[in-house]
Amino acid sequence: MTLGGFKSGFHAQKVPRSEAKWEQFLICNHDCPDIIQLVSHVSGEVEFELCLIEAARMGKVLLEAAGVTCENASRTEEKHT
Ligand SMILES: [Zn+2]
Repeated sequence: MTLGGFKSGFHAQKVPRSEAKWEQFLICNHDCPDIIQLVSHVSGEVEFELCLIEAARMGKVLLEAAGVTCENASRTEEKHT
């Protein structure tokens, strides 16, 4: 399992909700005005999109899966600087 795949394979961009590729599949009942899209570097296509609130939740889940809490993530960053 590599956590570096995200950095090398995708970039994230924020777009207005009206530009969602799959608005009908968007899991959002908060009326978020903007969404985050993950664009594959390989295909150049939007592979995944989610609203800002879900993105924040997902980020937390990813960090938890990696055994990193927001608190010690920032501590790790400090170590590198
Ligand atoms: Zn939302």
